[in-house]
Amino acid sequence: MNDNSPDFTSLGLAAPLLAAIAEAGYTRPTPIQLQAIPEVLAGGDLLAAAQTGTGKTAAFTLPILHMLAGNPIHPHPPGRPRSLILTPTRELAAQIAESVRTYGRHLPLATMVMFGGVSINPQITALKKRVDLLVATPGRLLDHARQGSIDLSGVEILVLDEADRMLDMGFIQDIRKILALLPKKRQNLLFSATFSDEIRTLANGLLVDPARVEVAPRNTAAEKVEQCVYVIGQKQKRELLAWLIHERQWFQVLVFTRTKHGANKLAEYLCRHDIEAAAIHGNKSQSARTRALACFKDGSLPVLVATDIAARGLDIEQLPQVVNFELPNVSEDYVHRIGRTGRAGAAGHAISLVAPEELKLLAAIERLMRRKIARTEAEGFTPSASAETAYDNDLQREPPPRRSRPARQSATPARDGHAPAARRAGKRSANRHDPAPRHDNGGNIHGNARANTADANPRRTAPRAALFSGKR
Ligand code: AMP
Repeated sequence: MNDNSPDFTSLGLAAPLLAAIAEAGYTRPTPIQLQAIPEVLAGGDLLAAAQTGTGKTAAFTLPILHMLAGNPIHPHPPGRPRSLILTPTRELAAQIAESVRTYGRHLPLATMVMFGGVSINPQITALKKRVDLLVATPGRLLDHARQGSIDLSGVEILVLDEADRMLDMGFIQDIRKILALLPKKRQNLLFSATFSDEIRTLANGLLVDPARVEVAPRNTAAEKVEQCVYVIGQKQKRELLAWLIHERQWFQVLVFTRTKHGANKLAEYLCRHDIEAAAIHGNKSQSARTRALACFKDGSLPVLVATDIAARGLDIEQLPQVVNFELPNVSEDYVHRIGRTGRAGAAGHAISLVAPEELKLLAAIERLMRRKIARTEAEGFTPSASAETAYDNDLQREPPPRRSRPARQSATPARDGHAPAARRAGKRSANRHDPAPRHDNGGNIHGNARANTADANPRRTAPRAALFSGKR
């Protein structure tokens, strides 16, 4: 984008949308918006190649809002959405709904979001009212369809967002069932970051003579993300990560692990070393995920450890730092991961901790991106002699039995999410002499945990850095 590129007025969007866009602080459309908005407004189907971070949500949301507002229907029966946006994860659904509300704030349109993992009853109640735009994950939408709480026969515009990830997550059958419930005559928009044969098959069966738009060349990582690699043994990685967080004073870092168990273990380790961290993944309750994400977004939780699927589509403004604690098995996931940083013009950094046995994966990633990622060293970091033993001991340690849920969750907020910032801040140093580390099998935060004596404590190699400086 440069100063000579067209502004939003040239796209012919309604004045209430232009006002909301200006209030959101956007001055010019992103490339995907410039290309996609006119196509959607023209009324045809669309096949769009765009990653998260390109502004793709507004690329489909703005023209949909424009069209729905410009063509109101009377009467509008309750529970009968006119536009359906299908998306793979709950977090993404919530984010899209937030964007729809932001852009549509001056329009008399009703938006609803629905996803699983939370009670269905409030959603049933909401469907008793008018709904113009519905943002949904496939499983929960089908639940509603089965019990007749939703009427999909009025859908004029369908969006499949992050279609590649929906297929990766095994939603194809659900999607087909949903398509069968929609009216035959409708506009279809398919957004996907990658184009596998499966996506092409889906697109061929769904889209009629679609316009095609593509913004970033396929599978190229965001240019503005500075990437580097530390080659280090698997058992030393967590020490290096804790050291980097302290030393570099990272205050908002998203860490990717390959497995849910790995995410839990790492979050526990960081907590034991006075670094507040929470893990999010599919086994976490929705409330724990939402709470962790909210605290991470508002800066009160410095480290979020996530699996690929849980992190997919997270839009955290100007996330400064992404860490690949392990490289993903699928090279394309690397591109998605580092796409979490350097978003919408902000500078971003992505580092990967790569064990010698992962070098093959690294080579595959570099081939995919057609570029070499710089190798670097952590000057001043020396893995402690006991790192490997501590790691092995930690792995062997049986996960503690799941404790039964407290009757009133609010009384022990640290249990499956993390304690409020104020409470943590007060306890962080006060409780450092507790007799034993407390951790559970969820990577949960316990402000009064202290380092396991068997662990090599990275704080011994780094002075107590002003870890929470920056945003605090
Ligand atoms: P998305 O790719 O839809 O997840 O959007 C990524 C981020 O870009 C979001 O935080 C949006 O608020 C932001 N964004 C979208 N469009 C624009 C724009 N035209 N100018 C500046 N930021 C934008």
